[in-house]
Amino acid sequence: MSSSEITGTVQGAGTARSGSVRIDHVTHRYGRGGETFTAVGPLDLTVPAGECLVLVGASGCGKSTLLRLIAGFERPTHGSVRVCGAEPRPGETAGVVFQTPRLFPWRTVRGNIDLALRYAGVERARWPERRAELLARVGLDGTERRRVWEISGGQQQRVAIARALAAENPLLLLDEPFAALDALTRERLQEDVRRVTDLTGRTTVFVTHSADEAVFLGSRIVVLTRSPGTVALDLPISLPRGDVDAEELRGSREFAELRAQVSHAVKAAAAT
Ligand code: ADP
Ligand code: MG
Repeated sequence: MSSSEITGTVQGAGTARSGSVRIDHVTHRYGRGGETFTAVGPLDLTVPAGECLVLVGASGCGKSTLLRLIAGFERPTHGSVRVCGAEPRPGETAGVVFQTPRLFPWRTVRGNIDLALRYAGVERARWPERRAELLARVGLDGTERRRVWEISGGQQQRVAIARALAAENPLLLLDEPFAALDALTRERLQEDVRRVTDLTGRTTVFVTHSADEAVFLGSRIVVLTRSPGTVALDLPISLPRGDVDAEELRGSREFAELRAQVSHAVKAAAAT
């Protein structure tokens, strides 16, 4: 399956109010009393609506913590996180994709998507149309009746992305979603996510420790220092988006230069 199999219009599945994210003086600390550990901050970051921000940093620098703060799964110890000006609400503010798909394996692809549509409060009469749009968008047409355990890991992760798009919420958050996949599947899914974010215009925050993945996906890259994570590099990426030849892009000189710059920044940030 390739990104070219993803179809749909801007009016189609996943169209949502696009959300802005504002992180003001945020610090996040784990533990209580004498035994505390500061995982993030102090950190300031604004993500304008429609941006595809990629957070990169060494393992343990606080990337997942930051994503959980934006999703509203955790509240910051200090400072504030706002999405569209309001405090984030878990399950409502953002569609989230984790490293593993976390689907119901005994259900069909359709069953998993329908659960998300039900949870999102989509009228039952609209489910077939929405389901078809979502599955087409992630290149999974024709798989509705397959059971999750019958499809590949890459396809399962596509279902997880479709599920995250099901709710028409303002944000899409992805936490190293392709880390467990083989290189070829990973590249294809990167192409799909790039296409999906371009088509939907939904604000996206994507976490990875791969400079290559970051440069391919991001319209902006933020490299975090080692824990407690703060901004080490904030880099706009002006590579072409929309209908591009992925192979050509990956092979371009601009791509190689950006990848080297990000890779260097990640290593320097981890060492300080
Ligand atoms: P990353 O995603 O960049 O690998 P995390 O956000 O998962 O980093 O973790 C940042 C730091 O916070 C790590 O040192 C980790 O051990 C610590 N940490 C993460 N979650 C918890 C938790 N629930 N309780 C205590 N420490 C945690
Ligand atoms: Mg993590």
